[in-house]
Amino acid sequence: MFACPCCGYFSLSSSASYEICSVCFWEDDGVRDEHTVSGPNQATLATARQNLAEFGACDLASVDRVDRQARERYRAPEAPVD
Ligand SMILES: [Zn+2]
Repeated sequence: MFACPCCGYFSLSSSASYEICSVCFWEDDGVRDEHTVSGPNQATLATARQNLAEFGACDLASVDRVDRQARERYRAPEAPVD
């Protein structure tokens, strides 16, 4: 499994293939730079991580769509994500 670039959980079966993370709902389009706006997410990773810390999803629209049990299914981040 691959680490989600937003939340860091190992929730993706492939990298940079537009898979949606079930932990934070970030769509992995391959953007890795924190300050580059990701097209499908319409946000930067910096913003998405901030949102994740604030309300538990990469953006407000996804708050009700994230799987609250996903964090228990996938390997946790190796380093804490801010
Ligand atoms: Zn994620």
